[in-house]
Amino acid sequence: MTIGFGFIGASGIAKHKMLAAIRNTPDCEVVSVYSSNLERGRAYAAETQIPHAASSLEDLLANPAVHAVYISTTNELHHAQTLAAAQAGKHVLCEKPLAMSQLEAQTMLAACREAGVVLATNHHLRNAHAHRAMRDLIANGAIGKPIAARVFHAVYLRESLQGWRLDKPEAGGGVVLDIVVHDVDTLRFVLQAEPTEVISLSQQFGMSAGSVEDGSMAVFRFANGVIAQVHTAFTVPYAGNGFEVHGTDGSLIAKNVMHPAAQPEVLLRTANGEQRLELAANEVYSLGVARFIAAIQGTGKPAASGEDGLWSLASALACLESAHTGQKVAISV
Ligand code: NDP
Repeated sequence: MTIGFGFIGASGIAKHKMLAAIRNTPDCEVVSVYSSNLERGRAYAAETQIPHAASSLEDLLANPAVHAVYISTTNELHHAQTLAAAQAGKHVLCEKPLAMSQLEAQTMLAACREAGVVLATNHHLRNAHAHRAMRDLIANGAIGKPIAARVFHAVYLRESLQGWRLDKPEAGGGVVLDIVVHDVDTLRFVLQAEPTEVISLSQQFGMSAGSVEDGSMAVFRFANGVIAQVHTAFTVPYAGNGFEVHGTDGSLIAKNVMHPAAQPEVLLRTANGEQRLELAANEVYSLGVARFIAAIQGTGKPAASGEDGLWSLASALACLESAHTGQKVAISV
């Protein structure tokens, strides 16, 4: 059976990444798009060759050709739109951060569970070959017992993205809800451990406005004892990016792995010397869609579940709270 997707949100990520990811997945198609502005929705549908622009969320959810929705509106809308989709019996692939609060995210998980629909979170980085290889090497003892990790994920926010992320706290703006959520999800995936507490400082360096931060440095502690330093920013043009895990018997040092299109460089350094892993950049969004479809068909699990989205949201919210209070903040879901 062909799985029809309804897009909730005529967004950039849907147009530039997810449309192709869905169209490249066998037995999938995008059948309708909902925008809060019907004219914009129609123009978006015409430009992207989506056959239908829905006049309302109810219109999209009442469409029997829509079996699943991909939600990529601004963050404050994810909660209510997921509840509506679940009530209509549609499977949900939702963007990160899953919601604006843990309570909202928990309600979303419960609603999807009760409705018997799949809830997945679009954490794409865990689908990268590089992160999967690092996770497997660590699980197989290649670096001994992991001690510490470092994530470098400071970017210069493209002009086209310099909107609500910079000045709308009510829409979930800020670098922590935008990027730290991805970094924590990737750490959880690679380390196979949950974060337990965080201490952080945030920064405003001329790009964001009001109470919204455009830079953050945080240290997370994980249940397996690892401490992980995470640097994120919207303001840094030339830092590059990286992900390192250091253990008792070796270190994994990866560069170019926090941006999916880049060619990854992953080095394993142990007493035996240095080994470069031969890894190609891969289509991370397609893999996420394929895993979502497998979950719908009962043959697999989402790459990142609703619970994964809840954990990364809880971690990012704790990171924000720590920066605001100056205190270490416990993380639990
Ligand atoms: P956009 O700013 O492109 O879109 C968000 C909303 O803004 C849309 O739903 C749309 O509302 C409105 N909008 C977009 N363009 C216009 C316009 N030209 N004029 C008026 N309104 C407009 O957001 P992003 O695509 O950057 O992000 C959307 C979501 O996806 C967020 O939750 C974000 O965190 C997440 N994201 C995830 C990524 C990932 O790799 N997993 C990467 C990037 C974003 P309407 O639908 O009502 O028309």
